[in-house]
Amino acid sequence: METTIRADGLATVRAEIVRACRDAGRDPTSVTLVAVSKTFDAAAIEPVLAAGQHVFGENRVQEAKAKWPALIARQKQRGHTVELHLVGSLQSNKAKDAVALFDAIHSVDRPGLAETLAKEIAKQGRRPLLFVEINTGDEPQKAGIQPRDADAFIAACRDRYALAIAGLMCIPPVNEAPAPHFALTAKIARRNGLKLLSMGMSADFAVAIAFGATHVRVGTAIFGSRPIIA
Ligand SMILES: *Cc1c(COP(=O)(O)O)cnc(C)c1O
Repeated sequence: METTIRADGLATVRAEIVRACRDAGRDPTSVTLVAVSKTFDAAAIEPVLAAGQHVFGENRVQEAKAKWPALIARQKQRGHTVELHLVGSLQSNKAKDAVALFDAIHSVDRPGLAETLAKEIAKQGRRPLLFVEINTGDEPQKAGIQPRDADAFIAACRDRYALAIAGLMCIPPVNEAPAPHFALTAKIARRNGLKLLSMGMSADFAVAIAFGATHVRVGTAIFGSRPIIA
């Protein structure tokens, strides 16, 4: 029963991505769906893997480390790959594990972390796709680089830490229309020559696609609602 519900959620999200792309005159293959599986266990993730989804997002390194190696090994046996994205904040002391496990990190948000990631990437020879998180709402409690500091931070990643930044990520403030935040993120990316945009969640991924999102991070609409702690 639950399997059917989850597969339906995934199918609906996929169809909405195709429709949003068509409305925006974009190629649907230009948008990567990151299925955010945080708080859900292997039993909940399996049916989504079985439905052909192979890009997943997690927000905690420890949780991902406990959950994913076994799932990835099983997928490999079946001849399939898994791409794992870290969408949540990253503490510097977890950078080593994050570089070892993740194929993309969406939350590069401070110089100290950029420096640590650069060292781990050099040491491990792994090159996860990196996104700089922009705090588009200038929210003091939220992670991310302030929009006015973005150009300098992106330049420092490149010139000072030799860190290849692929794109930008944002999480709009909960009680505001997301469109201006997506537009601002896209504008900062454009003027810095960055091609990838990680923006849009369950409630607003179609809007994000209209503003150029290349990666939408969707949890609830695929897996159902999470316990409050997440
Ligand atoms: C949980 C989470 C998501 C997914 O949110 P939903 O509203 O469940 O789709 C996306 N991005 C980040 C950074 C998250 O932590």
